[in-house]
Amino acid sequence: MRKNGEFRSGEILSGRNCSDERCTGENLKNRIPLKKNDEFVLDIEDISVDGAGVGKKDGIIVFVKDTVIGDRVRVRVVKPKKTYAFARLMEILIPSPDRVEPVCGYYRQCGGCQIQALSYEKQLEFKQHKVESNLRRIGGFEQIPMEPVIGMEDPFHYRNKSQFPVGTDKNGKIIAGFYAEHSHRIIPNRDCALGVPVNRDILDIVIAYMERYHVSAYDEGTGQGLVRHVLIRYGFRTGEIMICLIINGTKQPHKEKMPNGTDFLYEKELPHQKDLIRELIALPGMTSISVNINTARNNVILGAETRLLWGQLFITDYIGNIKFQISPVSFFQVNPVQTETLYGLVLEYADLHGTETVWDLYCGIGTISLFLAQRARQVYGVEIVPQAIEDARRNAALNGIANAEFFVGKAEEVLPEFYEKEAQAGRQACANVIVVDPPRKGCDDRLLRTILQMAPERIVYVSCESKSLARDLKVLCEGGYRLERVRAVDNFCQTVHVESVVLIERKE
Ligand code: SAH
Repeated sequence: MRKNGEFRSGEILSGRNCSDERCTGENLKNRIPLKKNDEFVLDIEDISVDGAGVGKKDGIIVFVKDTVIGDRVRVRVVKPKKTYAFARLMEILIPSPDRVEPVCGYYRQCGGCQIQALSYEKQLEFKQHKVESNLRRIGGFEQIPMEPVIGMEDPFHYRNKSQFPVGTDKNGKIIAGFYAEHSHRIIPNRDCALGVPVNRDILDIVIAYMERYHVSAYDEGTGQGLVRHVLIRYGFRTGEIMICLIINGTKQPHKEKMPNGTDFLYEKELPHQKDLIRELIALPGMTSISVNINTARNNVILGAETRLLWGQLFITDYIGNIKFQISPVSFFQVNPVQTETLYGLVLEYADLHGTETVWDLYCGIGTISLFLAQRARQVYGVEIVPQAIEDARRNAALNGIANAEFFVGKAEEVLPEFYEKEAQAGRQACANVIVVDPPRKGCDDRLLRTILQMAPERIVYVSCESKSLARDLKVLCEGGYRLERVRAVDNFCQTVHVESVVLIERKE
C-alpha cells in the first residue's frame, strides 16, 4: 500500500470490502492459487467485512485475522481457494504504526470487537472511507458531500445492554462471560470493555449466590441446568438498572409466602431468593429484577414469558428529551449516546418547521418518529414487528405526543397501499419528508418506487449498511433526487459496523 504505492493515500483505509471484490479487476487466469501451509510475508492493506486484515499475494487476496492495516506479517495458508485464501498470523514482522494494545485481554478469542487493535482515529477514518467508497463504487456518485465522521470521546463502555451466557467450567465452577468466536464455548469474562462497569458487580452477586445455594448453570449440550443467561440493561441518563435471569425453568411459578408477606416466584428453582434480591437492590439504581423462562433447546436467548421478582418490569431512559420505557424484551438502540447524536442529525437534515407530514419507515419502537413529531404536523411510523409498534404507541402516550400514528406491516406494502387508496379517492398521498431506517438489506424496490411517486421534498436515509444504502440512493437519485449531505456516525466503536445519515433533495 503505502510502501508500494499501489493505492492513493485517500484509499489507504478504503474499507473496499475486498471479500466482495475477490474476482474483479484482474485477470484470474494468470493467478497461481496458493496451497495449504504455504508461508510468506504479507502487507496488510485493508479490512474485510468481518474485520480480518486483507493483503495480496501474487494477485490472490489473503484474509488474516488479528492483523491491522499497515502490518507486515508472516502468515501460513490454512484454507486456500481459487482466487482468495484464509491464512493464520504466524508473526508480526513490522507492526503497523496504527496498531494499539487492545484494552481487552480476550480480544482475540471473542471476536466481538473486530478492530480493537486499530487506533480509534484510524477506525473512524476506515468507517468514513467505507461509506464514501461504497457510495462511489456502488452508487456511482462522483461528488460526495461527506461531512466529518462523528466518533465517541470514550469509545468503550457504551453499550446499555449486555447478555452474558452462564455455564460451568471443567472444574465445576460457575462461569459467565461470552461465547468464543464461532462457537458456544463460554470464555469467562465479567468485564466486557463495551459494557457498563456495573455488569461486573451484578455478575459477581449472581454467581456467588448460585455457588452458595447450589443453583445450577444451564448446559447447552444436555439441556440440563437452570440459569442460561444474565441480561442487564442500564439507563445511561436515569442510572436505572434492570437484571433479568433467563432460566430453563418450569412454566408453573411456585409462589411461597415469605415471613414479610411478599410472594416469591420460582422459590423452588431459586432458593433463598431474598438473599439474591437483597444484594442486588443494594446496588444504586436497581429498578427491575425479573426472570424469563426459556426451556427451548436452541440459540434464542429469551423465552416468551417474563415474570417480575422485584421492582417494576421496565426501566426508563431518554434519547434527547423523549422518555422510553424499556422492558427485558424491548428493542432499544444499544449505544444511547451516539443514537442521540444520530437522531439529532436526522432532525437537522429533515429541516422541519411544524407544518410537515412525515413518514418514518422501519420505525422500530418509534424513536425517530417521536423525535420528529416534536417539530412536524403529523408523523406516520411503519414497522413490521407488532410488539415494537405497541411500544411505540405506549412511548408516544408517555411523552404526551398525539401527532404520531403507527402502522404494523411491511413498509413496502403499507406505503403503496396507502398511496393507492389515496389515489382512488382522487387525492395525492402527501409526504413532505420521508425518513427510512431499514435493516442491513436496505429498502425493497417497491417501496422506493412508491417513495418516488409520493415525491417528498426531502428524504433522510439512515443506514447501518452502506452497500445497500448506495444501491438505494442510486435508484432514488436517478428518480429525481440530488445527494445533499452524508455523515457517518460511529455507533459501534471497535467493530467494523458504521451508521450513516444521508439527505437527498428533490430536484425542482
Ligand atoms: N428506526 C428504528 C429501528 C430501525 S432498525 C429505531 O430508531 O429504533 C430496522 C427496523 O426495521 C427493525 O425494527 C425491523 O423490525 C424493521 N423491519 C424490517 N423489515 C421491515 C419491513 N419490510 N417493513 C417494515 N419494517 C421492517
